[in-house]
Amino acid sequence: MKCGCCGKYIGDISFDKSYKMPDEVWALPEAEKNNRTQIDSDLCRLDERYFLRGVAYIPVIDSEKSYGWGVWVEVSEQNFFEYVDNYENDNSSRPSFLGVVANKIPSYENTLSLTVQVQLGNETQRPTFTFIDKEHLLTQEQVNGVSIEKAHSFSN
Ligand SMILES: [Zn+2]
Repeated sequence: MKCGCCGKYIGDISFDKSYKMPDEVWALPEAEKNNRTQIDSDLCRLDERYFLRGVAYIPVIDSEKSYGWGVWVEVSEQNFFEYVDNYENDNSSRPSFLGVVANKIPSYENTLSLTVQVQLGNETQRPTFTFIDKEHLLTQEQVNGVSIEKAHSFSN
């Protein structure tokens, strides 16, 4: 399958984009970042607030692929520490919980503060996010998919 905008094969297109930290943390001056935050690749604390990184998959229409937005979501302290305590375990049968998106996703309006359902994975999977605001384009596209051309435009 080829992309209609550039003729690239689907296998040659990057299908994910990851954010290094929540936007709010990214925007802090260096000294405050050092004093107020603790962060690694998947977990972040800012003062008494807690964030984790996962992936929101958007299926690409007529393909087996999905585009993965590697965003951060803010979660409750309790959910955060349950995740930390069980980080090495298979958490895929744990109940899902709510999170709030902490990154601006380009090409979409108002993604900061969008609510998602967080589903933890097994030992090798990142948490996955499902959008629940039915009015939002991301929620609709997570259900209906996006064209390969649109998925490709995310990486440009
Ligand atoms: Zn293209």
